[in-house]
Amino acid sequence: MQIIHAIADLQKEISRLKNDNKSIGFVPTMGALHQGHLSLVKECLAETDHCIVSIFVNPTQFNDRKDFQLYPQKFKDDGELLKETGCHILFAPSEQEMYPEPDNRMFDFGELDKVMEGKFRPGHFNGVAQIVSKLFDAVKPDKAFFGEKDFQQLAIIRELVKQLQLPVKIIGCPIVREQDGLAMSSRNMRLTIGERQIATKIAQTLFKSCTFASLKKIPEVTEWVIKEINSEPLLKVEYFEIVDGNTLQPVSDWEEAEYAVGCIAVFCGEVRLIDNITYKKPE
Ligand code: AMP
Repeated sequence: MQIIHAIADLQKEISRLKNDNKSIGFVPTMGALHQGHLSLVKECLAETDHCIVSIFVNPTQFNDRKDFQLYPQKFKDDGELLKETGCHILFAPSEQEMYPEPDNRMFDFGELDKVMEGKFRPGHFNGVAQIVSKLFDAVKPDKAFFGEKDFQQLAIIRELVKQLQLPVKIIGCPIVREQDGLAMSSRNMRLTIGERQIATKIAQTLFKSCTFASLKKIPEVTEWVIKEINSEPLLKVEYFEIVDGNTLQPVSDWEEAEYAVGCIAVFCGEVRLIDNITYKKPE
């Protein structure tokens, strides 16, 4: 596995690969890798000839400075995991490399980023769009792999690619969970042992809601999930919304959407966790 820090070096390598007619797959990450990230790398290896993974903790997508400063960094371990998994190139640029000048671009995603993460983390998706568009420009991938764990992000990336008319195919990959159901996340490392045990309640509640959702109305399911999770003193729901899986707009009736997804953000102590679940449409 090659480790490359400079865009110019990366581009030389990419030109060489493209001349050899190799297809390029790309997995952008912020590091502190876990099996969720590695599932994207494996999918990338299965679908393309050459897998490039980036590790860059992007400052412009953090609306909370403290969250940025506390974001876990494990570059050495990450490198080993990627090498073992079969990644070909690890691209790890510096902040100076990605932002030699401030990026003042403002994106317009219409209603897609007005809800949920977009509402509670102002500017977050604009920062995501800035870095992903810069990375796509550097890597020029044929396919790029993103997790459904960040459900809204995936929708925003699809929209970004559409707006910029980029020739990259976006592939969504399923959420990888711990054995007790907790969605894997780099932020899980920041949980204390006690918080980690309690955090399981988030996914467990979402799973349970699926078992009776079709028998209830959406507002009732929503209220039940929020109440159930908030009944645990260490957990605080920031939002839980059942939305149309395509438009991300809230729905109040199962019939309104082709498929409905429950998206949640919860504080477990100081750590903010997100998760989501797809509901089956009532027969
Ligand atoms: P991050 O490093 O958190 O920016 O995530 C990098 C990529 O990994 C994103 O496309 C995430 O959606 C994806 N990802 C993170 N956690 C998981 C997970 N538990 N399952 C599947 N994909 C994930």
